[in-house]
Amino acid sequence: MKLKDKAALVTGGGSGLGRAISLLFAREGARVIVNDINIESAQQTVEAMGEAKPRGLAVKADVSDSAQVRAMFDEIEKKIGRLDILVNNAGIAEATGEEMDRLNQKFEARVGEALGGQGVQTQWEVVSNMTDEAWLKMIGIHLNGTFFCTREAVKLMGGERGGAIVNMSSVAGLMGLEAAPHYSAAKAGIIGFTRAVARELGSLNIRVNALCPSFITTPMTEGISPMLKMMTSGQTPLGRWGEPPEVASVALFLASDDSSFITGQWISPNGGLFIG
Ligand code: NAP
Repeated sequence: MKLKDKAALVTGGGSGLGRAISLLFAREGARVIVNDINIESAQQTVEAMGEAKPRGLAVKADVSDSAQVRAMFDEIEKKIGRLDILVNNAGIAEATGEEMDRLNQKFEARVGEALGGQGVQTQWEVVSNMTDEAWLKMIGIHLNGTFFCTREAVKLMGGERGGAIVNMSSVAGLMGLEAAPHYSAAKAGIIGFTRAVARELGSLNIRVNALCPSFITTPMTEGISPMLKMMTSGQTPLGRWGEPPEVASVALFLASDDSSFITGQWISPNGGLFIG
């Protein structure tokens, strides 16, 4: 077992990648604290841990709210007393369902025009229409949430036991997605934060790395239109989207001693969509 007796917090662990990471870490011997904004989904992840279920703990907190994050870490300190691994994973794709619908429509209109051979007329009009609320919500959950959790986690990490922080970025942070400037900015910010904090915390024996997946089949990507799914699969050398266990295994690598000399880096399980 690669994480025997380690205490690991996974934010957004009630669904998709966070659930897959929580379940894999539990199988590898960790005591997994599953955070989510939705406590029922966090509890369902703990329920799914099988034999490791007694080592699981579900904790509700909105990671974009620093007071809730502090309260969550107070609970972790009281109940467990330390933390060895933090996976900053909680996130959203679009601030609203309407945003996703509008983007799917724009995308299909542009593809239709391109196929018609008359030149593309439909403009994306994303950044010019973005509200303050949509921008701030995206930055708040991804970037502020990563900072708030890291700030508290380092107080429970370090010393002889060391620590590992895995920050969930995205290919959007590496290459930019025209349909999601707020998401791309948040994910690129997470890479910059990872690099800076890795430099700072190395002397405390805490490693900090980022994961940059491409399109992965989870509830977050369910709303993406079939045409866009086909296009993005076609642009991917391996010819398909990824599955959550294919990201969880990379998170395990970054969280375990298998990556003991790796810090400040990003790794991108992306089927070749972005080669950097
Ligand atoms: P998901 O299935 O929607 O899971 C995200 C989880 O985070 C949900 O349980 C969600 O709860 C929770 N969450 C949302 N806001 C939160 C908050 N403020 N505080 C605490 N928990 C919160 O999405 P996923 O695909 O697994 O994505 C996980 C991470 O991977 C995200 O950071 C995402 O940006 C990143 N990522 C995903 C992909 C992909 O293709 N799926 C690719 C690259 C990167 P609710 O469901 O109640 O909102």
